[in-house]
Amino acid sequence: MQLRNLAVIAHVDHGKTTLTDRLLYQSGMFRQEELDKLCGGQHGLIMDSGDLERERGITITAKTCSIRWTSPVGVAYKFNLIDTPGHADFGGEVERVLNMADGCLLVVDSFEGPMPQTRFVLSKALALGLKPILVINKSDKPSARPDEVVNEVFDLLVSLNAPDHALDFPVVYASARDGWATTHHSQIKENRPTNMLALYETIAAHIPAPYAPGSSRGAAAGYSTMEEALAAPLQMMITSLAYSDYVGRIGVGRVSAGTVRNGQTVAFFDRNGKMSRQRIQKLESFEGLKRVEVDSASAGDICAVIGVEGTEIGATIACPDNPKAMPPIKVDEPTITMSFRVNDSPFAGKDPKSKFVTGRQIWDRLEKELEKNVALRIARDETSDAMRVSGRGLLHLGILIETMRREGFELQVGKPEVILKQIDGQTCEPMETLIIDCPEGYQGDVMGAVLGRKCEIISSDNKAGAHGWIHMEFKAATRSLIGLRTQLMTKTKGEAIIHHTILGYEPVKIEPIVRPQGVMIQMDTGSVTAYSLDRLFDRGSFFVSPGMEVYEGQIVGEHCKDTDIPVNAVIKKQLSNMRTTSKDEAAKIKPAREMSLENCMEYIEDDELVEIVPSEIRMRKKWLKESDRKRNK
Ligand code: GDP
Repeated sequence: MQLRNLAVIAHVDHGKTTLTDRLLYQSGMFRQEELDKLCGGQHGLIMDSGDLERERGITITAKTCSIRWTSPVGVAYKFNLIDTPGHADFGGEVERVLNMADGCLLVVDSFEGPMPQTRFVLSKALALGLKPILVINKSDKPSARPDEVVNEVFDLLVSLNAPDHALDFPVVYASARDGWATTHHSQIKENRPTNMLALYETIAAHIPAPYAPGSSRGAAAGYSTMEEALAAPLQMMITSLAYSDYVGRIGVGRVSAGTVRNGQTVAFFDRNGKMSRQRIQKLESFEGLKRVEVDSASAGDICAVIGVEGTEIGATIACPDNPKAMPPIKVDEPTITMSFRVNDSPFAGKDPKSKFVTGRQIWDRLEKELEKNVALRIARDETSDAMRVSGRGLLHLGILIETMRREGFELQVGKPEVILKQIDGQTCEPMETLIIDCPEGYQGDVMGAVLGRKCEIISSDNKAGAHGWIHMEFKAATRSLIGLRTQLMTKTKGEAIIHHTILGYEPVKIEPIVRPQGVMIQMDTGSVTAYSLDRLFDRGSFFVSPGMEVYEGQIVGEHCKDTDIPVNAVIKKQLSNMRTTSKDEAAKIKPAREMSLENCMEYIEDDELVEIVPSEIRMRKKWLKESDRKRNK
């Protein structure tokens, strides 16, 4: 059997999941009923499993799956497909999992072209010496611009100083949705093939086997042939974690040398190099979407190790007779921090769906999350009873909060803050590359908003091959980006495509950024009425609609000016015998502004909180009473 370890790199929504599913599907490993069971009768959903992942269309934790495929001439292959998370917030995970691969599939949308996230992951892949195969996905699209996309990828690789062998990448045009792939340009529009054979063949031919002569991973590990790697003493680094309530932490990694056996006693080095002797309770290998127990796994293969105490990213499993730790790998530091606290709003505990409300329950849940969420940090806040939760970005923390909400948790969170660092005696903050694509007509508005947040413009051009679209690049402090997405989405009616990736740390240059508008603060507890919203029509826009229960101190709307104002949205119309005019009857109400969890997190200021309960997300002032707010000001 021939082994191929390949990472799948793609920007969010470019079709990585659909493509992986399709490769699994066409490999013939599954029967139709199994497939139907796995994806509820729809294609394209085998790989991404969590509800949240499906809704948001992004991969949150990298998974590995394996596909067995037999070539038309009868050679049996096992492809270990290593999924990489599709968002900069999960960048740290990307780097680590790339360590398991010998090559990569770069999946790029035939219209959008390579995106900043692709750039980030690709630079990491090139640094590891991985050879890319370019898959131009969604080639079925009428707006496809394959030639420009190939050129853009080429330019991108050049700008990343890719070595010659990487510049000579094979190109496969594919439609994962429709299940075809071809290496012939002439077949993009006509005489399309009916399957993905071209892609399987390209993988088999262009991704090097582990330790094949010239394979970068082999060179990095110091072995020039498979025989050498097999004969060397066992070494395996844990590069990714899974968790199960029954067996605890599961360490996943690639065996770099020797063979690891089920039930064997091994030398275990933690990240700091401290060694212990431990027995592996269970060894598993990837088979399709599942893990199955195996007797052994040898150099080049990817496997999961169960029952080793202290399993963590960067730990080495080594030969007990000749133990050597592998050089440690870096785990990214968090960039954003937030406070989590117990819900103490007047409506706390009233949601019929809420199950977990105490500080202890929240803390235990966070501790459990640490088992598999590598870039997460938690700490007790010494000055209050709050918990400090730090992560790689708003999305990273937002997903955790959303997951907890769906599990039945209630909590409140404060404004996200950027984590500052002291470097050479200077206070530094994280900086990012910000990329925005938008239709021409919105360029002025977008520029205004972005430059208003002190971002530095790097370039602004027409998007090649995409008529009427502008492509802009900026350098921005992470701080400037908090709240920007909501603002740009409103300005461009949801059309802008926005991406950002961490660049590094730089000395703090800009002033604090505050929300330009004030808010409307509810004065009284009760049910929102159409009558009162009508009376407040000219004051701004609302986050609530008639019938919703609100409390004193809740933020019910955005003021059209930069100051906060108290309002009363629960006044009932006085009943009278007087006949009213028709104007009175028809209350004017603007539709409530939909605020997602991330919108709320970006929106609030220091003296405000987001209250999260299973059925609702509300924003409030920390001090609910006007008199307390005045005193604390
Ligand atoms: P991921 O975020 O990279 O995993 O992307 P998905 O696989 O979830 O795909 C994102 C969206 O693109 C989904 O709505 C897919 O149905 C769609 N999509 C995926 N592949 C194709 C394709 O080949 N052609 C077209 N037209 N749409 C596709």
